[in-house]
This record gives sequence, structure tokens and C-alpha cells, in this order.
Amino acid sequence: MPTGFCDKCGRMKELVTIRTALVLTEVSRSTLYYWMKKDWVHWLNIPSGRRVICRDSLFQISGSPEVLNPQDTIEGKVAKIS
Ligand SMILES: [Zn+2]
Repeated sequence: MPTGFCDKCGRMKELVTIRTALVLTEVSRSTLYYWMKKDWVHWLNIPSGRRVICRDSLFQISGSPEVLNPQDTIEGKVAKIS
């Protein structure tokens, strides 16, 4: 897993691609982009021009790192936030 400096966390964090983030969270691409637009997840541009996401911030929104993540849990959290 690549790591990089996450400004929001203020330290080195594991970063995942959007593709990986979609697999981890099991949300739709449009949901993930919405989270990014709202800054509910931490993301950054890497030099190749791709965007990567701070893995811990994904877990903060989508639930426990242990449980990779039933859809209803994710939607419940989003409903609570919004
Ligand atoms: Zn972060």
C-alpha cells in the first residue's frame, strides 16, 4: 500500500486509489466523489495526476476498519452526517 503525507491528518498515511476505495467501501463511484467533494474523506493529487484517498478517512466515514462494510452501515452514517 503506498503512503503519502495527508495534510488533513498531518502525517504519513496509507493512500488508496479511487478504484481501491470503491472496493473497500462498496459504495458507488458517485457516492465516493460526493464524499470527496464534501471533504468527508481526505484526498490528494499525486504527481501522476491521479487522485488518491487517505485510507483512514475512508474508514472514518464508512465504519470500522475491521468490518469492511455492509452497504446499510455506510448509508446510515451518511444519513446521519447529512
Ligand atoms: Zn487523512
